[in-house]
Amino acid sequence: MSTTTTVPQEDARMSARIIDGKAYAAGLGERIAASVSALAETAGNPPGLAVVLVGNDPASGVYVRNKGKTARKVGMVSFEHVMPEDATQGELMKLIGELNTDDAVDGILVQLPLPAHLDSLAVIDAIDPSKDVDGLHPLNAGRLASGLPGLVSCTPLGCLMLLRAARGNLSGLDAIVVGRSILVGKPIAQLLLAENCTVTVAHSRTRALAAKVAAADIVVAAVGQPEMIKGDWIKPGATVIDVGINRVERDGKTALVGDVEFDVASQHAGAITPVPGGVGPMTIMSLIHNTLVAAYMRRGLAVPQLW
Ligand code: NDP
Repeated sequence: MSTTTTVPQEDARMSARIIDGKAYAAGLGERIAASVSALAETAGNPPGLAVVLVGNDPASGVYVRNKGKTARKVGMVSFEHVMPEDATQGELMKLIGELNTDDAVDGILVQLPLPAHLDSLAVIDAIDPSKDVDGLHPLNAGRLASGLPGLVSCTPLGCLMLLRAARGNLSGLDAIVVGRSILVGKPIAQLLLAENCTVTVAHSRTRALAAKVAAADIVVAAVGQPEMIKGDWIKPGATVIDVGINRVERDGKTALVGDVEFDVASQHAGAITPVPGGVGPMTIMSLIHNTLVAAYMRRGLAVPQLW
């Protein structure tokens, strides 16, 4: 007797595997927690993460609380410093100086954006590069560009982790990164080059973007414009990493969408990250991973390979 399976129309059209960033981040968190307790046993104290928030921006407040909560969940010590909106550059620099010399602190993260009167670049520059767990210090950016080990910007690192998990060896693949910001686009392009991909970096002046996307085995979208990368541009079987987080009004409600037209792209791609639930959860876990890396490196110990 033969059996038949009825596939609902929507499922039949959706061919892409969904890259579940939330699940990957949870698994990585468990591996980090095991390494944190191993480090605490050998070195005597667990890694410490200091997060600095200036002002009362509600979204930044939520991010800072989530970072502290995730650090504690894996067994790290979390130090949260909240400064008033009118804190001066001098006051902030003094705090950074204290955190730089505090041995209990392995990682320092200053929540961005800072209030407009503060000089963010000077603040990032003042962080001890060995504690720069956001990977934004020019020394760490330079190390990445030079192919040297260092602390890598969190969102790009999270993207690479997902790509490796989804696709394995990336060597020789054609990749396009849409967006060239210092925070996301440029470091992702550097990471993919280091994986031996052939990398195209597109931006607002790029011509014939659709054709360039259509030629890529890997598409990383970091633009900040809702669904600007059309689904039918995607090469069949390509892997799509959507970094964008955009709030849009849909049916009278606010919804989050990425930079890629997900519904159509998922009919062409081999694997794709959803928004939310793709890159977003990886950003915090990459920060926690960087704090672990910083803690091992600062104690002169070999860094465990967790991904
Ligand atoms: P930026 O605004 O700094 O950079 C956007 C980039 O997109 C620029 O390089 C810009 O080009 C390029 N761009 C703009 N319009 C176009 C276009 N029409 N065609 C091609 N390229 C274009 O943004 P970020 O890099 O900081 O962030 C990008 C997105 O990622 C945002 O949605 C942000 O919210 C999200 N994000 C998500 C994170 C997460 O955890 N998931 C973390 C960080 C960011 P040009 O340089 O020429 O201006």
